Amino acid sequence: MALTPSHIDEFRQAVRNLATMSPDGPLVVSLYLDARWLDEHQRDRVRLFVENRSGELRAAYRKRPHEDEIAHALDWLERRAVNDLVSQANPEDVDSDGFAFFVSPGRNLYSVVRSRTRFENEMEVEEQPRVLQLAHLLDHHSPAFVVLVDGRWMRIFEVALGGVVVEAEIEQYLPDRVDSGDRGPFAKRFQAAKGPAALARGEGMSQMRHQRHIRDHLEHNLKTAASVLTRLAVLETDPDIVLCGEPELRAVFRREMPSALRSRITHEMRMDSKAPRHHVVGAAAKALLGRTDRSRSLEVDGVIGEALGGGLSVLGTEDTLLALQESRLYSLYLDLGASIGSGWRCEQCDVLGRKAELSCPFCRGGTTTVDLAQEVARRAISKGTRVVTVRDHVRLRHFRGMAGTLRHGISPITGGVGYAGHEPLPPT
Ligand SMILES: [Zn+2]
Repeated sequence: MALTPSHIDEFRQAVRNLATMSPDGPLVVSLYLDARWLDEHQRDRVRLFVENRSGELRAAYRKRPHEDEIAHALDWLERRAVNDLVSQANPEDVDSDGFAFFVSPGRNLYSVVRSRTRFENEMEVEEQPRVLQLAHLLDHHSPAFVVLVDGRWMRIFEVALGGVVVEAEIEQYLPDRVDSGDRGPFAKRFQAAKGPAALARGEGMSQMRHQRHIRDHLEHNLKTAASVLTRLAVLETDPDIVLCGEPELRAVFRREMPSALRSRITHEMRMDSKAPRHHVVGAAAKALLGRTDRSRSLEVDGVIGEALGGGLSVLGTEDTLLALQESRLYSLYLDLGASIGSGWRCEQCDVLGRKAELSCPFCRGGTTTVDLAQEVARRAISKGTRVVTVRDHVRLRHFRGMAGTLRHGISPITGGVGYAGHEPLPPT
């Protein structure tokens, strides 16, 4: 079984590559799609969204610079997004509920990100890729193992970033009959009526030796399964574990796990061992996401409390922007539900500010209007700042949906951070 330990790192690097793309270059089309194929109507909605938005963008660039380039990118997206995705034959086969595309023919960029969780529909042509939804995805998915135990076999799914990375199925021998020649009607009855879970409970077994024999096998199987999981789990840093199966089997499996791994079990759920993979992984992903949402929300409360108490945190757009540009931010907190609005970026010195300025108040250079949340996320990612996203956080909205924690001690010297070749002057 091939397993790369660094899927998250690879994805992080891919997001970083998108975030650090220079604004001085060919335009980029960013397309995010909610691709949950609930029904035919949903497919039509996706198709319509792409067609309408694409039409608007074509119209916006008609007889303007970059018209051909944009048309080429939109043609590619409509073919790819509408035809390939929307016409997928069997929705049950689709593991991804979200797709993000970044296309720029001039940059030779044709990038697709698939996610188990949905994105919100979004399509824009800008100087740089829109990375906020990717930052959200990155923040909300730590590596996790979803384990489905049965007495005879086990399925392990390694999920990361919302998608299944690796799927392993391990089948093991569990005797239906006792080797000593017990092939009578009893063995037959057991085979038909009793599953491994009933065996773990010790039900329906009148013959002690038989029961003992089966239980030994069951424990042996679950022990082997636990050791397989242990070998996989050491390749990831602190993975979450979602344990699925009948309660009795889970109990045996838990006992066989090393205690360090046992402490990583975040959810347990009853699940039919024959459940289709999208059902198992979907249920696990939902539980994991809910947990992440709650912990992020609490974290934001803590940051606000720390800032109000004079700690190493900043609140609101102005202070957060300043700390970000000075490379002093350790974590950036953004509320995706808050209307953070637009800002400006100096084309000359790269300083970023909120609202609008016709020329840079620091160097008098020309400015570009930017989506402030997108721009802040891009800069944070390129500086190695952790980006934490929440939605509709009541207290964070009092601070315009933005906050941050500061790095301890002296700011690190970061050469060539961001897409500017130099560190911008802070707007003091
Ligand atoms: Zn400037």
